[in-house]
Amino acid sequence: MEYDYFINEFLPKIKNAPIINFMGGEPTLHPQFNDIFQNTYDKILPFSHLSVFTNGLMPEKVLDLLLKIASPSGAVSKQITFAILLNWQTRENISEKNHERCKEVAVRMLRVNGYSVTFSINLYSKDQELEKQCEEINAIYQKAGLPRDKQFKIRVSPAFPIIGGEANTYLPIRDFPKVGKQMLKIMERFPQLCFRFDCSLPPCFLDDISEDQLSLTDRIYYHGNKQVPPMEEWNRNEFYFGCADGSPMDIDSKGDCFNCFPFHNLTLGNVSDFKEVNSIAMAQMGAKFLTTVFEKTKAKEPCRSCPHYMVRCSSGCFAYNFVGDEAETESLH
Ligand code: SF4
Ligand code: SF4
Repeated sequence: MEYDYFINEFLPKIKNAPIINFMGGEPTLHPQFNDIFQNTYDKILPFSHLSVFTNGLMPEKVLDLLLKIASPSGAVSKQITFAILLNWQTRENISEKNHERCKEVAVRMLRVNGYSVTFSINLYSKDQELEKQCEEINAIYQKAGLPRDKQFKIRVSPAFPIIGGEANTYLPIRDFPKVGKQMLKIMERFPQLCFRFDCSLPPCFLDDISEDQLSLTDRIYYHGNKQVPPMEEWNRNEFYFGCADGSPMDIDSKGDCFNCFPFHNLTLGNVSDFKEVNSIAMAQMGAKFLTTVFEKTKAKEPCRSCPHYMVRCSSGCFAYNFVGDEAETESLH
């Protein structure tokens, strides 16, 4: 995003939003990231949430600024909740050097404020080294001295299909129970580790749970901070774990708004259309998104025959309905 556009046109529209997340690509590599971030920090309202989603491969001057804001004299004193979402880089994906840099950023952040950083892992294959990734993150918390009675959360997100561009690697829905089974095993091994799903938790992740693992579900969170209720209660109460919970809008470098990354081609408006990007504007765009996704496609297998479908899940992520063997060729535009 151009700096002048950000300062003069963009920031005035979004500065009162209760949640502002800097996402990418890699936002910290923007040549004027520090100016953009500092200006945002100076203008947002108390009690807002400000986050940076990063892979940790940031320049030193960006790390210095983020450490300053995470420190006790930083955001907390301004009544702003500041968080770093650190996308844990694995040796499968990057060089040893970059892996070490990601770790260094994590350790320095944890040292300044253990609550300011949350590790994030993308689930893209049932064969990825998920246990190894969790083992490394657990080791960092242990080294930082996490007390035995405290837990830590790792944010996990299935890699969803991205609509309207080149095919990407995504986790097939049929593999969700297999990955869920691995996650349960990992939780048994690391008793302080919790998993957090943000936009949706497809309940079939827990389809292969065994009787003696049922108590582990209270270490799984959905929609960010809701604890998964005991499974024996699922049929007695109404619980909804799926998408469509009013998550924040994504906005690209031109100010175009879209619901979430898989649907970045489905423009729902532009910041210039709104007096402010606030909850009314987001509700308006959210309604447009849901109408589109519900009306343009239908769920495919395995969702169509799944007992959770339209009871507590809306097919994992709507993006799956636009791809696959039975994919409809209908364009989003
Ligand atoms: S509806 Fe689909 S994604 Fe949701 S739980 Fe069932 S199979 Fe999984
Ligand atoms: S469509 Fe829903 S579940 Fe899929 S990425 Fe977007 S917000 Fe998340």
